[in-house]
Amino acid sequence: MSEQLDAPIVIIGSGFAAYQLIKAIRRSDQTVKIQVFTADNGDDYNKPDLSHVVSKQQLASDLVRASGVEMARELNFELHANSYVDSINPDQHKIKVAGEAYSYAKLVIATGAKAFVPPMSGKAIDRIVTLNSLQEYQAAEQELALAKRVLVIGGGLIGTELSMDLATAGKQVITVDPCEQLMANLLPEYVATQLSKKMQQLGVHIALNNTVSSIESSSNEQSLQVELANGELFTVDSVISAAGLQPNTQLAKQAGLRIEQGIVVDKQLQTSTVDVYALGDCAQIDGKVMAYLQPALLCANALAKTVLGQTTAVVLPNMLIKVKTPHYPIQMAGQTRLLANRWQLDIDAYGTCVQAFDTDEQLQGFVVVEQHMNKAFGLLKRLGKAAA
Ligand SMILES: Cc1cc2nc3c(=O)[nH]c(=O)nc-3n(C[C@H](O)[C@H](O)[C@H](O)COP(=O)(O)OP(=O)(O)OC[C@H]3O[C@@H](n4cnc5c(N)ncnc54)[C@H](O)[C@@H]3O)c2cc1C
Repeated sequence: MSEQLDAPIVIIGSGFAAYQLIKAIRRSDQTVKIQVFTADNGDDYNKPDLSHVVSKQQLASDLVRASGVEMARELNFELHANSYVDSINPDQHKIKVAGEAYSYAKLVIATGAKAFVPPMSGKAIDRIVTLNSLQEYQAAEQELALAKRVLVIGGGLIGTELSMDLATAGKQVITVDPCEQLMANLLPEYVATQLSKKMQQLGVHIALNNTVSSIESSSNEQSLQVELANGELFTVDSVISAAGLQPNTQLAKQAGLRIEQGIVVDKQLQTSTVDVYALGDCAQIDGKVMAYLQPALLCANALAKTVLGQTTAVVLPNMLIKVKTPHYPIQMAGQTRLLANRWQLDIDAYGTCVQAFDTDEQLQGFVVVEQHMNKAFGLLKRLGKAAA
């Protein structure tokens, strides 16, 4: 037991969620012992910047704000870089890394998510690029810089942002999505149609209601032959999968923690096991995985108090989602896809504002585009009042 009392707060992962947690802990306590075990080198970067690295001609190294070693020094934690955690033993309060056991007083799983690659056939599947980490971009940066033709699998938030960026960089882009519109989980049809038009003006070929069925290398081994489910064929230099994320839940699953879409946590961010918490893209809170920075930040601030002994529930307000499509910028919050009792669509030369109302005429959600984005904070306030 004394071993446990002396044990540090252990954090698995060194992404946004982990670093926000450490910063929040250090704002209140400069001395509590923190150990970080991370599969990468711990470098700090802003992952959303990956949406426009190609048009900005940036290398992965350009995105690094501080190395893992610098972060460890600045925030006073013990960094175990390139240390993949193999297992968790909640009964013994221990994790295992490369055969060695480490004790924890509190354990925080911040293992993020991995990019999903939809099932398809072909011998060149291993050429598919994913862009959910700095390392993934680093592995592909040369290929993407040189590529003239790029096929993006997925027309959701990330796939759309990447497609617009690649087109802005002068590449021929094909975006493939199984739904009837871009960003089908987020955008009302009208806005998605306008967004598609903007993308097409930039030269993007949008293949909706479609999937990739196979990827093969061409005879020169450089380019790729991609066949869609409807039989269309494309020759491209690179294929990116931006078809969604799968929370990294393996560790938690093996430890017997409750898993649904992500690692299930309560309002205090605690998993189904005492002293084990989860945060960021790997966690499911209120039945949802929220793979965005703001919820991770709010959860990190609450969890910092909890792991320091003051049990605190997180409160998640309505949050603004900003779509980084500079030729057609969009912001939204609340219910923007579910059935509303009434939709109000205001269109003028400055952009678009779509509002969804319930049967009591309360605002349920909104989408603002281009210059109408200056209404976003006012609408967000109204949304907050409607929810209260
Ligand atoms: C292209 C792109 C654009 C985005 N744009 C936006 C945006 O505009 N706004 C927004 O709010 N969000 C955006 N997001 C989402 C946002 O970046 C993520 O929600 C956030 O960065 C996730 O942080 P995380 O710490 O949970 O996970 P990650 O950053 O994925 O970190 C996970 C960490 O866990 C480590 N790890 C995993 N397994 C193990 C293991 N077994 N042992 C040890 N270490 C392990 C990894 O090495 C890594 O350090 C974007 C994401 C992408 C990919």
